[in-house]
Amino acid sequence: MNSLKESRNQVLGQIEAACQQAGRQAETVQLLAVSKTHPSEALREMYATGQREFGENYLQEALEKIETLADLEIEWHFIGHVQRNKTKHLAEKFAWVHGVDRLIIAERLSSQRLATQPPLNICLQVNIDGQDSKDGCQPEEVAELVQKLSQLPHLRLRGIMVIPAPHNTAALWDAKTLFNQVKTLHAHPEDWDTLSMGMSADLEAAIAAGSTMVRIGTALFGARDYSK
Ligand SMILES: *Cc1c(COP(=O)(O)O)cnc(C)c1O
Repeated sequence: MNSLKESRNQVLGQIEAACQQAGRQAETVQLLAVSKTHPSEALREMYATGQREFGENYLQEALEKIETLADLEIEWHFIGHVQRNKTKHLAEKFAWVHGVDRLIIAERLSSQRLATQPPLNICLQVNIDGQDSKDGCQPEEVAELVQKLSQLPHLRLRGIMVIPAPHNTAALWDAKTLFNQVKTLHAHPEDWDTLSMGMSADLEAAIAAGSTMVRIGTALFGARDYSK
């Protein structure tokens, strides 16, 4: 079995190669280590290889890890579905929330973010390819949401997050187009710098289309076991 250091180096190599292919600098793509279902010890081991940004999907599991790993300087990203009644923990414990798709959620996060903390980084989740089962706002709603969310005081609206269906490369390019189109509507356009897309299976295609943050789980930690 690969050590976590080896698998991380492999993924970093993939990112570098994809950037080179796309004529981009490797530093323009950030690696988010998606650690859901994996124990805190695995995160600690990954941290020791230099990884600082971790993404979690399930709030209770994430809160336990945040507590267990409080001695590390991890930047915590919440990439799961945001439930309206769970925003307080997200606002207080995370640096980033990627799954925001409604104004009411953003308003709650902004009002619950402590004044002593830096603004909470937000990505607007967009259902870019019209999947029935997926969360995310509709592409037509993005313009208005960018206008409104970018004015909330304790948030920094950073960009768009998408999870297209497997092999839907066109959707990745659609996300990039939409990302570019709405920048001028942002109250602080310089904050609009993040296109969160690309997972283990479509990392290269996502980077080709302009991703600035790939969310990688399986390729870093191995297959997930949901039985526990
Ligand atoms: C689980 C998850 C990932 C990581 O997926 P892999 O295929 O394991 O790389 C990325 N993004 C989101 C939103 C996820 O839920």
